Amino acid sequence: MTIATTVAPAARQQGVAVSMQKINKWYGAMHVLRDVNLEVATGERVVVCGPSGSGKSTLIRCINQLEEHHEGQIVVDGISLDSDAKNLDAVRCEVGMVFQSFNLFPHLTVLENCTLAPMLVRHVPRREAESLARSYLERVRIPDQASKYPGQLSGGQQQRVAIARALCMKPKIMLFDEPTSALDPEMVKEVLDTMVSLAKDGMTMICVTHEMGFAREVADRVVFMDRGEIVESGSPDEMFSTPKSDRLRTFLGQVL
Ligand code: ADP
Ligand code: MG
Repeated sequence: MTIATTVAPAARQQGVAVSMQKINKWYGAMHVLRDVNLEVATGERVVVCGPSGSGKSTLIRCINQLEEHHEGQIVVDGISLDSDAKNLDAVRCEVGMVFQSFNLFPHLTVLENCTLAPMLVRHVPRREAESLARSYLERVRIPDQASKYPGQLSGGQQQRVAIARALCMKPKIMLFDEPTSALDPEMVKEVLDTMVSLAKDGMTMICVTHEMGFAREVADRVVFMDRGEIVESGSPDEMFSTPKSDRLRTFLGQVL
């Protein structure tokens, strides 16, 4: 069984955004992350793929500790995720996350969804928070939806609000967990376009997605997980054209 160590080639020069060393995690008796090593350089775009249940969500949720790991060390932008709550708060401020199911606050308008965390957590004054929110809503191409409620928007629009909301916290790293999986096919492109534009601006991104076109267009590296392990990683071209493991070959046969 190969266990790939995935070190970003440029990490040493550019600075390390995320470092995960020998991460192990269990849900009860189930071993869901097995000695995972992953280093992501500042500005790097990493796509994580793999079969359902392979541990992709658990892996990226450990980066902002929505899930706790049991063994190993995680350092995010130089801040070690240990038991010190202050470190965790600092990391959560720097890491934005977009979920499959949007997770917008349904009782708040689009604008309020975007201003809540900056005002509460970063203590940004309301006017400034609103002006920032409007600029990001413009960026995700829905400036005219600011006063609507999430339920009045399409899935694609809601997901773009979720991206704008995350950006309003000025994160250094963005995590995406299957952001297009819950969308109708005609809305996938508008969300992917937003993510491509973010990637081209140099955002450090870790994206769990099976959108292999997106991976080819923007990923510096694709990481393939199966049964809690990183089995293989490499450039999109290497991974898709010359997969080394049978497990990746089988997986690609299903998604490509
Ligand atoms: P993926 O995102 O690749 O589909 P997950 O990280 O969600 O995989 O899940 C990895 C494994 O852990 C799966 O077997 C899943 O059923 C299990 N799992 C995920 N979350 C929980 C949880 N909160 N409690 C117990 N088991 C979980
Ligand atoms: Mg998942």
